[in-house]
Amino acid sequence: MNKTMATALAATIGLVGSAAYFSPWFWRHYRMSRLRREVVKKRALALTYDDGPSTAITPQLLDLLRTREARATFFMLGRHAQQHGHIVDRVIEEGHDVGCHSDQHLNAWRTLPWEAVADIDAGYERLSRWIQPDSMFRPPYGKMTLPTYWSIRRRNAPVWWWTIDSGDTDNTLPDPSHVAERLRREGGGIVLMHDLDRTQPRNEFVLEVTAALLDVAQQESFQVMPLSEICQ
Ligand SMILES: [Zn+2]
Repeated sequence: MNKTMATALAATIGLVGSAAYFSPWFWRHYRMSRLRREVVKKRALALTYDDGPSTAITPQLLDLLRTREARATFFMLGRHAQQHGHIVDRVIEEGHDVGCHSDQHLNAWRTLPWEAVADIDAGYERLSRWIQPDSMFRPPYGKMTLPTYWSIRRRNAPVWWWTIDSGDTDNTLPDPSHVAERLRREGGGIVLMHDLDRTQPRNEFVLEVTAALLDVAQQESFQVMPLSEICQ
């Protein structure tokens, strides 16, 4: 084999290897488009909150959801759940879904594969007082690789992404009414938000978006439901 052929072969192997390693990216996009069809068919709104629980915003959210008689889904970090166990208890008591979002929130694309898998396992372990080993999972940053994909498959846990990003992590926060209007335009949605304590404006934004989404759901007669009630 000459040098050019060897280089081409190495490049091909590298390309195929990377494509396989990151292939859950394609799966994610396939799943998200299926989810979009499913929520529109059901005319459903699923409110989802990642990275909590935390001491300021999570109880405020729970108060708002209770007032509006809405149930939501919380993808928690194991370390935060352990710190604020009484808040997890309240989330469960009030009928919301709880899923795992890992322990330390490692980005699987930027972490050694066995470390990303261990972080997921640690999240389930610390949440084991409240959830099962096959309870729902949302990957940190929405990123999965083949090793994390197989670790979740082995658990038989459903993986949930979202169809509408609220923009609550953007540098400039969007207008809450624009997020709600997108829900109306799309005819339903799974909305990504976060309930870790950040600045006051960001915490308030999450509360305002939640209220605006619930207003649209009421006007459009969308069903507000936790993810476990939406078939994947
Ligand atoms: Zn997250």
